[in-house]
Amino acid sequence: MSFLRLSDIDVRGKRVFIRADLNVPQDDAGSITDDTRIRASLPAMRDALARGAAVMVTSHLGRPKEGQPNEADSLAPIAERLGELLGRTVPLIRDWVDGGPWHAALKSGDLVLLENCRFNKGEKADSEPLAQRMAKLADVYVNDAFGTAHRAEATTHGIARYAPAACAGPLMAAELDALAKALANPARPLMAIVAGSKVSTKLSVLTHLAQKVDSLIVGGGIANTFILAAGGRIGKSLAEPELVGEAKAILDKYPGKVPVPIDAVVAKEIAASAKATLKAVEDIAADDLILDLGPETVMALKTIIAKAGTIVWNGPVGVFELDAFGEGTKALANAIAESKAFCIAGGGDTLAAIAKYGVADRIGYISTGGGAFLEFLEGKTLPAVAILEGRFAARAG
Ligand code: ADP
Ligand code: MG
Repeated sequence: MSFLRLSDIDVRGKRVFIRADLNVPQDDAGSITDDTRIRASLPAMRDALARGAAVMVTSHLGRPKEGQPNEADSLAPIAERLGELLGRTVPLIRDWVDGGPWHAALKSGDLVLLENCRFNKGEKADSEPLAQRMAKLADVYVNDAFGTAHRAEATTHGIARYAPAACAGPLMAAELDALAKALANPARPLMAIVAGSKVSTKLSVLTHLAQKVDSLIVGGGIANTFILAAGGRIGKSLAEPELVGEAKAILDKYPGKVPVPIDAVVAKEIAASAKATLKAVEDIAADDLILDLGPETVMALKTIIAKAGTIVWNGPVGVFELDAFGEGTKALANAIAESKAFCIAGGGDTLAAIAKYGVADRIGYISTGGGAFLEFLEGKTLPAVAILEGRFAARAG
């Protein structure tokens, strides 16, 4: 992947437009409940400011109706938190697309936050006229929003075509470097763990990954679909029976690559009070729910993890939110933490599991982008990255 990085560009005295991902979770009162994404976005802002740029930052937040700004989706709380973290007042600019006195007054060392980019009509459709108007605000466009890199929108894609210069911010660049390290030229054996509950989205990930990896570990609802494909029983567990054919095709095409679970922790319901029972897969009853991998399966997987050179991890292998069904995920998290392999992990619930088991600092790279991470694993082109590569190629050629 070849694209310009913010660090490649002299931004002194320039107007720098940063598209960040500041879409943080909020409670009903609008208070930020987790500011990880804001903190992860600070390096781009600090770097541009330190090198004498005038900085504009925007992001989406929530799912507002375009053309209808509303208080609940305003970036006002983000401006406040950003101000606390940067130790300065961060003005919030509304109706910013065509500039104005605030833009004329922007000078080196200033930083402003531009209100929710999804308030603008045409943002999601990647409207060219909108992107062109936005591009006029900037000398340098910086995309630092890996989390939305799989979407072509006016602030993630169109603007990059028209701005005088376009580059990746440090967070975006770090994500892409880590993914390239894991998948483009990985230390072998390369193994992937794909688990969790989004069965249908993730089966296409598996189909792509199966040809790249040396072993493919399945868990959660995905594993249940593979148990069915291997002729086993899953009771009333989460699975997608329509996708058994696809799972079977993977098993047939890559013999031995996908270990199918041999034992499981089951219960009659998903509840903290549910009685957890350990069963061999062949003993699973019609009213059982498989809620975690069993210890024999986990033992076999730990051997594979110990030998791996690279690990790509998306999805908890059990209902880890309930401790009775968290042992499999916990054991794999610890095995990954102890292994010498380079591990990249991504996914909202995967990150929650990594935090719960306290292994975050022993995972090689933790991706901030759920959807974009999965689409990259599927082998899809991320439009926000493709346009930066296109600009770079045009410049070089
Ligand atoms: P991520 O957010 O990391 O991409 P997903 O959203 O796909 O992961 O899946 C996470 C959820 O899957 C967790 O809430 C977990 O409880 C659930 N899960 C894992 N294993 C099972 C299972 N066997 N049956 C039902 N749900 C499961
Ligand atoms: Mg999830």
